[in-house]
Amino acid sequence: MFVGVGASRVRDLFKKAKDNAPCLIFIDEIDAVGRQRGAGIGGGNDEREQTLNQLLTEMDGFEGNNGIIIIAATNRPDVLDAALLRPGRFDRQIIVDAPDRKGRLAILKVHSQNKKIDPSVSLEVIARRTPGFTGADLANLLNEAAILTARRRKDSITPAEIDDAIDRLTIGLTLNPLMDSKKKRLIAYHEIGHALLATLLPHSDPLNKVTIIPRSGGIGGFSQQILNEEVIDSGLYTRAWMKDNITMTLGGKASEVEVFGEAEVTGGASGDLKMVTNIARKMATMYGMTDLGLIALESQNQDVFLGRDWGTRNEYSEEMAIKIDRKVREIANECYQIARKIIRENRDLVDRLVDLLIEQETIEGEQFRKIVAEYTQLPEKELAKSS
Ligand code: ZN
Repeated sequence: MFVGVGASRVRDLFKKAKDNAPCLIFIDEIDAVGRQRGAGIGGGNDEREQTLNQLLTEMDGFEGNNGIIIIAATNRPDVLDAALLRPGRFDRQIIVDAPDRKGRLAILKVHSQNKKIDPSVSLEVIARRTPGFTGADLANLLNEAAILTARRRKDSITPAEIDDAIDRLTIGLTLNPLMDSKKKRLIAYHEIGHALLATLLPHSDPLNKVTIIPRSGGIGGFSQQILNEEVIDSGLYTRAWMKDNITMTLGGKASEVEVFGEAEVTGGASGDLKMVTNIARKMATMYGMTDLGLIALESQNQDVFLGRDWGTRNEYSEEMAIKIDRKVREIANECYQIARKIIRENRDLVDRLVDLLIEQETIEGEQFRKIVAEYTQLPEKELAKSS
């Protein structure tokens, strides 16, 4: 509120608060004035530093409980000046995480009030499908859906617009489909590899759809799973889930290699490999899921999402680092072999699914499972209802 207005405004603010005690002071975006002093970025620090100094002085000036409580909000607690966080100043921190399902539902109710929504849309289902979305993301989702509705000349938002809006926000804008070409076939084999493994591996989340309609940001297609929001919200992944997830993620490359050979493999799998390394490292270093033992070698840093990843320190020797690398490679290799084997053993099915994907461009999970069931037995999985 008082950015750039300076120290005198801070003095006035606290004077007013004392006159009106008991009283709450709320400072939004405290990092605007409360940034670490002396960083010297961007110039004009003098004014801001004076403001901050005044704020610190005023907060120290409290004698006992004089009925003033100061609350501040920020997205960047990591850049705050250490003096602000000392006892007697802001001594209690509350992290407001991304909302859970109930929270998302409540937020959706608020943002849907001023929109015409078809009765066939269930906010409950949207809340279940959007783990990790913040309040702003959810507001944006409903706005996107409303724009699509207007563009399609519909009277109210239907599940189709919600679906497309979720994809648009999580993956990217749709582009025109590729002409049938070798590239298109390669992408189709890659995505079918993911989709088939998601369907056949007993512990991976079930397939929602697979598509080769390209998206902005260089995405040729994608295979999408129905996310298990309870697991995502709680962060409680099992070892079996992690391994199947690594295998599924390697399914794209496995399928390319089985069909086109090592020489033809594209760079399209580089994102996949990054994800695999990530999960495998976590298994070895954080969750004690390998024979490296029951030690957390890397502490889970709660604040990573707040831009404080520089705070993670490695708590192990160089020798251990080599062992971890070896372990990560071992896990990835083992999963890759499983992926190759499943693709190889189901080659007829893979070819048929690829032909269908090229013809239809998108295969929904249900249709996909029906076809797979003609060839082999499906593992039992709980299917969350999609909208
Ligand atoms: Zn992939």
